[in-house]
Amino acid sequence: MPELPEVETVRRGLEPAMVGARFTKVVQRRPDLRFPFPERFVERLEGQEVRALGRRAKYLLADLSSGEVLVMHLGMSGRFLVTQEDASRMPGEFHHEHGGLDAHDHVTFHLSNGASVTYNDARRFGFMDLVPRSGIETCRHFAQMGIEPLGNELSGQIIADLFAGRRTPLKAALLDQRLIAGLGNIYVCEALFRTGLHPEAPAGSLATGAGKPTDKAHRLAEVIREVLSEAVTAGGSTLRDHAQVDGSLGYFQHSFRVYDRAGEPCVTPECSGTVARLVQSGRSTFYCPACQKPTRAR
Ligand SMILES: [Zn+2]
Repeated sequence: MPELPEVETVRRGLEPAMVGARFTKVVQRRPDLRFPFPERFVERLEGQEVRALGRRAKYLLADLSSGEVLVMHLGMSGRFLVTQEDASRMPGEFHHEHGGLDAHDHVTFHLSNGASVTYNDARRFGFMDLVPRSGIETCRHFAQMGIEPLGNELSGQIIADLFAGRRTPLKAALLDQRLIAGLGNIYVCEALFRTGLHPEAPAGSLATGAGKPTDKAHRLAEVIREVLSEAVTAGGSTLRDHAQVDGSLGYFQHSFRVYDRAGEPCVTPECSGTVARLVQSGRSTFYCPACQKPTRAR
């Protein structure tokens, strides 16, 4: 499943193909993905210019000249393929994996700059929606959504404010999309490891009795941005070598320090610990019991 850095990588890959261009033709090949497409989807897109392509958590947001926003979510297996009309300009670089149309190519956007952007999704957990820009914050996708982890908003103080008094394990609190939006299992494991925090420590242990952030809270805020930025950078370098704007690209060049390394020696210099796995809320957590000691609730 694409995580936030992969979605950001996709956004950066789509930006040059879409922003400043108009939808000249939109081909919608089925009535639904995970949810039905919005009413008159094609009509509402054709003729509109894409003014900007943004991201909120794991959603892509294309601002249209009509005042609507095309909201796109990749689900589990969604990806975009960008092709250029003038394929001779970059021989061999832009080609479809399977030659012609794939059975999972559900939507194609033809753009006024000659680019075509096709949305392919084998499992169809992705979706698209059209929402007025003026109501975006309160629409069903974003109304309950927490703060953006890759922005400047995230700080030790914010973490203390969000987590104070909570007995939920840190891992669960960090995955709670209503608190911080877009953090997934992999990057939460990595961030806790780099901060030296036990995944089962109570979330409230990052705030003092007076509600101030602990040193670890400050460090965690930094580390979250760090792991996400590193992954975006890795995704970007992969993207340059691929025409497919693939949600999975960001993973390729990435080696994780604890994620999926159960039984392997801890990578921390001079730590003799072994990476362990535990299951929290049905999902695997990887951590080093030597580096990430349990802390007590305050
Ligand atoms: Zn260790």
